[in-house]
Amino acid sequence: MSRMLVVVAELRGGKLRQVSYEALQAAKTVQEDGDRITAVLIGSGLESEAQELASYGADEIQVVDHADLASYNPETYAAALLPILKAVQPHAIFFGHTALGRDLAPVTAARLQAGQISDVVAIHRSDAGPVFNRPLYAGKAFEEKRFTGGPMIVTVRPNNLPPAEPSGTTAGIIRTAYSPPSSLRTVIREVVRQMTGQVDLTEAKIIVSGGRGVKSREGFQPLEQLAAVLGAAVGASRGACDAGYCEYARQIGQTGKVVTPEIYIACGISGAIQHLAGMSQSRIIVAINKDAEAPIFQVADYGIVGDLFEVVPLLTEEFRKALA
Ligand code: FAD
Repeated sequence: MSRMLVVVAELRGGKLRQVSYEALQAAKTVQEDGDRITAVLIGSGLESEAQELASYGADEIQVVDHADLASYNPETYAAALLPILKAVQPHAIFFGHTALGRDLAPVTAARLQAGQISDVVAIHRSDAGPVFNRPLYAGKAFEEKRFTGGPMIVTVRPNNLPPAEPSGTTAGIIRTAYSPPSSLRTVIREVVRQMTGQVDLTEAKIIVSGGRGVKSREGFQPLEQLAAVLGAAVGASRGACDAGYCEYARQIGQTGKVVTPEIYIACGISGAIQHLAGMSQSRIIVAINKDAEAPIFQVADYGIVGDLFEVVPLLTEEFRKALA
């Protein structure tokens, strides 16, 4: 029997987020012969992004486009999503493990009385069904989980699964009417965006991060210059945020953002366990610290013992020449 796999795609600044393509790839990974994939796009002014998504291998795109959906609200988005899910009776639903996915997936799971596996970093198939790999204890261990019944609800951590590629086909686009809930307990009055540079931290391929060692707000400038040359995002430790050197939107760690870039460059960060919880899964870690005993060197692939105010400008200069 044909089963339906649903991917809830997500926008940021009107553009599809990279994690949406990774969630689509997650659906393809569990797809069996005859299974169909529906990608759902909820928001306002979605025409061009729906066309874009249609070429990435889903069988159909369901679009709920309404001015009330311009900003995320768990109640309005649930009201947009649930009728589609009830109609298609999904076997599995995939979200990004983003602020939206972390909120909307459990709402969906509760309404459908379904189980959920969160923060998935790898998926493989087995005779007993798909196996989902997720980190435990701030990335110190991993567990493998399987669903014993459906529907399966999964959130995938950004930057871990490969993104879906254009498929050479174009999915049909179905526009679904939106019926607002009769009353709302949550009202979004204003959305305040704190800029963390041009590149989204959770999806960045390279992150240059500063700790208390940068010593001041101005101390972040050399890091921003290095980030600009590398096309990187700028992150921070809580030490730097608490000291007022940068906004909390940049904080990485247990109580900040969890990131998995290709390259993480930690500048003046000691490597406290709470910071490692947010970045230790980075593919390559480079640490710059003037204390050779700093714990960050225990997780670093490359370590530079030195003053970040000397080392970072030198790196910027060399990368500028190399990438010119
Ligand atoms: P420090 O530990 O003070 O380290 C600064 C480093 O800079 C030192 O290693 C020093 O040698 C180096 N340095 C100084 N000057 C220079 C220089 N000129 N050149 C090169 N190196 C230099 N922390 C997080 O980061 N993220 C979290 O999400 C988080 N959540 C937490 C949750 C809880 C419940 C608790 C209790 C703590 C949490 N923390 C978190 C805080 C964490 O324990 C550390 O206090 C924090 O990570 C330290 O930040 P830091 O490494 O920037 O500062």
